[in-house]
Amino acid sequence: MRKTIIAGNWKLYKTINEAIELSNGLMRDLFKIDSQGIDIVLCPPFTALSSVSEVILESNIYLGGQDLYWVDEGAFTGEISGKMLKDAGCSFVIIGHSERRQFFGETNETVNKKIKAAIVNSLTPIVCVGELLKEREAGKTFDVLKDHVQNGLTGIDKEDILKIVIAYEPVWAIGTGKTATPVQAQEAHKYIRDLLAKLYGQDIADQIRIQYGGSVKPDNIVELMKQPDLDGALVGGASLQINSFSEIVKKALEVIK
Ligand code: PEP
Repeated sequence: MRKTIIAGNWKLYKTINEAIELSNGLMRDLFKIDSQGIDIVLCPPFTALSSVSEVILESNIYLGGQDLYWVDEGAFTGEISGKMLKDAGCSFVIIGHSERRQFFGETNETVNKKIKAAIVNSLTPIVCVGELLKEREAGKTFDVLKDHVQNGLTGIDKEDILKIVIAYEPVWAIGTGKTATPVQAQEAHKYIRDLLAKLYGQDIADQIRIQYGGSVKPDNIVELMKQPDLDGALVGGASLQINSFSEIVKKALEVIK
């Protein structure tokens, strides 16, 4: 059985004080929930990692970075390494988010290097894949998913693939309020799982968690979570408020697979 995972991507939001306030509120709301059934991950901006880490210390909530560089240390001004994320208390790291692919030149090749660096540093990579609106409209969704998954995972063996979470994030649904329908999400998740089965075998593919991301809100999480190949959510906008993120986590937990 795959454990549900709900992660909040805070993007370029929250000062240190705001991040502490948000994580304190989430601790109050989520401290007592059954963490056997769910992994909860908060991904604040780099500047707030250490402060949030202190708030959630020894709780059922994990910390994640929003990106990393693949070299542990060196003359790479402005970059943050896996070693540094680990040091700041992270267990997870988002890799290949569409905003990084769109605005910061992320490619399958850099995604691949980052996945390997994350694994070396014992961080669980949350690897984002997904199509643009024009690619969906041109009937190319599966081609894009194949390209992102196959090329992003080049050289990742059967042992390491089990350490990875995939996030299917249709770019047209991110921050737009336009969610993929549960049927559209399931279709893409099933395609990704079938592809993973071809690459690694069915038994391994059945163990890999695939999250959905794209305008997830308290009022759509239940129908999404009911889909058989959907194992959680990567939440942007709705993770910035205590109530909406807590509600998403609690409603996801209600959907027992
Ligand atoms: C995201 O940042 O990965 C995301 C899915 O954002 P939103 O929930 O705001 O669409």
